[in-house]
Amino acid sequence: MLIQGKNRSFDRSDFKTRDGLPTIIAGPCSAESEGQVLEPTRALSESGRVSFFRAGVWKPRTQPGSFEGVGEIALEWLARACRETGLNPIIEIANPYQVEVALAAGITHFWIGARTTVNPFYVQEISEALSGVNALVLVKNPINPDISLWVGAIERFYDSGLRRIAAVHRGFSVYERGIYRNPPHWEIPIELKRIYPELPLICDPSHISGNRDLLGPLSQSALNFGYDGLMIEVHPEPALALSDSQQQITPLELYTLLDRLELRKPAQDDLLVGLRTQIDSIDHQLLSLLSQRMGVVREIGVKKKKQNTTVLQIQRWEQVLQDRLFHGQKLGLSEDFIKECFETIHTESIKTQSEC
Ligand code: PEP
Ligand code: MN
Repeated sequence: MLIQGKNRSFDRSDFKTRDGLPTIIAGPCSAESEGQVLEPTRALSESGRVSFFRAGVWKPRTQPGSFEGVGEIALEWLARACRETGLNPIIEIANPYQVEVALAAGITHFWIGARTTVNPFYVQEISEALSGVNALVLVKNPINPDISLWVGAIERFYDSGLRRIAAVHRGFSVYERGIYRNPPHWEIPIELKRIYPELPLICDPSHISGNRDLLGPLSQSALNFGYDGLMIEVHPEPALALSDSQQQITPLELYTLLDRLELRKPAQDDLLVGLRTQIDSIDHQLLSLLSQRMGVVREIGVKKKKQNTTVLQIQRWEQVLQDRLFHGQKLGLSEDFIKECFETIHTESIKTQSEC
């Protein structure tokens, strides 16, 4: 269902930077110790390129027994480190109690995690707890690719009187993990931007990729789309991080990444650059799916070998081809194109199974 564009006036002043540079939010996945908070705040503030220092105080972990954050004690570390360095502390909040203790520690910048955005009860309670407070709230996309949950959460904060609201794109969860920990589905944040043209949009390439090697290309894609900022996980010693160690980088690596980014092209090129970024993203998904398919093909190959059956089973191939022609044509693809694609895929599958 198409969501109507909404005429909302957001306060964008937290995301105004010189020369159209993106606003940078950086810091560790989790606050772990006072030193691990203080050291990067010092390093990051010296560069003058980072506006917000992020750190998770309470961590929503999928599995019990994982590191769940150090809790309230970190509020003091963050407040102190940021007072000393001039950075703005920003933390995740997931319930009214966390809002209360964070405000008491002088912290007024928050993000709503992907696992919270999915739950209208939590979002309503948090937005009521923030009513009347001059707070900044970044709403991360829900963990599942449902734009109406994202819009619903933004609307709840807006209805509570908040105007300093922004959206954070952190990708969407899938059953089979491919190249990305949470594939970006760029079309969803683009649709959010159509609904709220004024809403600041931040990209979190750390949680999209789950892997530090992909941070640069994802950040560049976000800039190509005209995002207002980047949220990137930075840790003084990524390998020792107690959560998300694969995706964190050092402050120095952050600067190298930022140095390599090209700022947005002039307006007339934006559409083309944006569409090409979408093509890149779709092709990456295609590659992930092809690699998953070949994995299953190999498993079948091993079974065929054990059962001593032939690799090529022409009846099955005929069924596959007819099925793909039927479904592909329904999706508007030409018969020749579908046939050629699947013949190539099938040939590669047969070759792989013969080598099992
Ligand atoms: C985080 O930012 O550390 C975090 C837990 O994010 P998300 O809600 O996007 O998983
Ligand atoms: Mn994290």
